[in-house]
Amino acid sequence: MLQTKPSHRKTEGIALQKCISPSCGATYEAESVRTSCDRCGDLVDVVYDWDRGTVPTKLKDFEQFWTQRHDRLRFSGVWRFKELLPFAPDDKIVTVGEGQTLLQQAESVAQYVGMNAGQLYLQYEGMNPSGSFKDNGMCAAFTHAHMMGAKRAACASTGNTSASLAMYCAVSQLMKAVIFVGSGKIAYGKLSQALEYGALTVQIAGDFDDAMIRVKQVSDELGIYLVNSVNPFRLEGQKTIMFRVLEALQWEVPDWIVVPGGNLGNSSAFGKAFTELKELGLIDRIPRLAVINASGADTLYELYERRGVRWNGGNVDMDPIRAFYDEMDRDGAKADTIASAIEINRPVNLKKCLRALEACDGVVRQVSDQEILDAKAKVGAGGIGCEPASAASVAGAKMLRREGVIAPSDRVVCILTGHQLKDPTATVAYHTTDQAVFNDVLGSRGVQRASFANRAVALPNDLEEIIKAIRLYS
Ligand SMILES: *Cc1c(COP(=O)(O)O)cnc(C)c1O
Ligand SMILES: [Zn+2]
Repeated sequence: MLQTKPSHRKTEGIALQKCISPSCGATYEAESVRTSCDRCGDLVDVVYDWDRGTVPTKLKDFEQFWTQRHDRLRFSGVWRFKELLPFAPDDKIVTVGEGQTLLQQAESVAQYVGMNAGQLYLQYEGMNPSGSFKDNGMCAAFTHAHMMGAKRAACASTGNTSASLAMYCAVSQLMKAVIFVGSGKIAYGKLSQALEYGALTVQIAGDFDDAMIRVKQVSDELGIYLVNSVNPFRLEGQKTIMFRVLEALQWEVPDWIVVPGGNLGNSSAFGKAFTELKELGLIDRIPRLAVINASGADTLYELYERRGVRWNGGNVDMDPIRAFYDEMDRDGAKADTIASAIEINRPVNLKKCLRALEACDGVVRQVSDQEILDAKAKVGAGGIGCEPASAASVAGAKMLRREGVIAPSDRVVCILTGHQLKDPTATVAYHTTDQAVFNDVLGSRGVQRASFANRAVALPNDLEEIIKAIRLYS
């Protein structure tokens, strides 16, 4: 049901895996499982020999597939761009119809950010089947796992990766999901998905960074297919978020893409998407990229903006990175933010993100939990709910607007990475009238006020009182 009928067009030979370090550049078959370069240990990319592919000569040509929505691969918001990620034969591709997402103009949010009318867009990835953008990448990694004949797939997760993996396993019945989460670190919406979809759920006494180390060891030892975003195929699927943004803008390139930064898979994938489109002559200009950290998990901000670490054509100076990681170890620093999806201090895709920042003339900012929650309330009041991490993009855009880095007339796309229902605890605590609940969930993180709270009105069960209150408040 999930797979389409075998096609005669084979893609073998077009895709390779390649070390991202230009001084190494080792290549490997696409049909091999790796999360790093055997020779130098750096990250690997999926690269293509485009000439032998069947890439459309202009982006508008993709519109012809809109009439083929009965074909599951053309219905999918990821695979309808499969010519731009041609690593899998059609008969191995797995899809659950991911990527039916919206680019929404949001006037109330535009005003809040300080943009001219019509210039702020929200790319709502919460519309994905498991409720976050992770499905874009998971269908690609899962497809590769299926190509490799994997029977088990694992990830460490702050919640959404595990929800997505568990969903693909459950719907396809092709693999068993093994997920590692930090204890007490996962929002209930996400945990409930993993449990209900039947994933083997391992709670490590530690945080995400600890779980990440363990899942790598366990996957190596037991030969389990790893789907964390060190998996280069994940990023191939996530490129399509940008293709859909362009599609919604009738193939016009916006001025800015603003995205929250956790493990930095999305930002890395976006940079790769635009670099490839430019190489292929499908766009003539690359938008600027803003990656937004939470101030309680601000490794990228610290390294890029404060310590001046750059991709530098592939010669990344590792000394300041090692020094900063040593400092964090010495101080026992742990990531801490209400935006649990970006509560990560050692982003696995750091180098790829540095490369994306270079390609996209990027900037990095950090925003407080207060700014994140206020932005989230504004996004929600505009009718598109998101989880805290997602709102970092809007809070970051507001900061960049205030600084004058983003002009009011720029065309800005903020990525809303996950659905509001993923983390109801944060939302309810923000709007609550119960100070103890507020303090427990948010006050403990330095959040002082709920600037845009919509508080419930408590009333006695009395018709007159109720009518009086409704007259007063509405
Ligand atoms: C995973 C996730 C992020 C972080 O994305 P990276 O690609 O790891 O930087 C942000 N928001 C949500 C909702 C997520 O699930
Ligand atoms: Zn290498």
